[in-house]
Amino acid sequence: MAMLPDSVQMLRDIEAEVRYTRFLIGRDALSPQVMAAMAAVPRHHFVPQDERDYAYVNGPLPIGWGQTISQPYIVALMTDLLGCGPGDRVLEIGTGSGYQAAVLSRLVDRVFSLEIVPQLAAAAAERLVRLGYANVTVRQGDGHAGWPEEAPFDGILVTAAAPAIPPALVAQLRGGARLVIPVGQPYGHQELVTLDKADDGTLSLTKVLDVAFVPLTGGLSSGRRDGEGR
Ligand code: SAH
Repeated sequence: MAMLPDSVQMLRDIEAEVRYTRFLIGRDALSPQVMAAMAAVPRHHFVPQDERDYAYVNGPLPIGWGQTISQPYIVALMTDLLGCGPGDRVLEIGTGSGYQAAVLSRLVDRVFSLEIVPQLAAAAAERLVRLGYANVTVRQGDGHAGWPEEAPFDGILVTAAAPAIPPALVAQLRGGARLVIPVGQPYGHQELVTLDKADDGTLSLTKVLDVAFVPLTGGLSSGRRDGEGR
């Protein structure tokens, strides 16, 4: 597979951080398929024009609307933890720039991605079409509700932190599938966790490592609720 020259150092930095965190994440290296997807997606197309010099630095970058494109190591790690492959249908909550969706799209059959900020959803949808990621569908909406029309999913990846795991996402997970989500307080302590749903519906939670994500907005925290403001 073609490797973008700029991504060579980025891949080395991801490999180094994976080794450095191996006791937390339980692996010495990420799968070759995930690393190949990271090598192939042109990250400079997903960052604002004035951030392009930093597109292959292993750190998050601002994308407007108070949001960020996640650090490449975190994108690679979450993709690896999700463990999805050919034939799978994956739901992402928090499209942002569309970068994580593009990485997933190289590995799985279909990617459904929800973004709450209308301008980001529209820009990411346009960008993904323009770059040829034909198996990604972006929709504007609140990820707390998931995407019931397309459920169940073979994996769900949430790229914004929630104080608690939204129940609709657990319900939309197929038996044998995994949810990867940062859980914790807005700008406070957050942990990346995996939630596995067994075929009989039994859930098991594993904490992976401390992270810093933008908050999952919407849900009960947004909008005027009945009876308010009268
Ligand atoms: N995955 C993105 C990074 C996302 S940053 C990328 O690869 O670029 C987190 C994103 O989640 C932001 O764009 C934010 O607007 C979005 N978000 C926050 N709360 C949300 C919600 N309830 N539903 C859907 N998207 C949400």
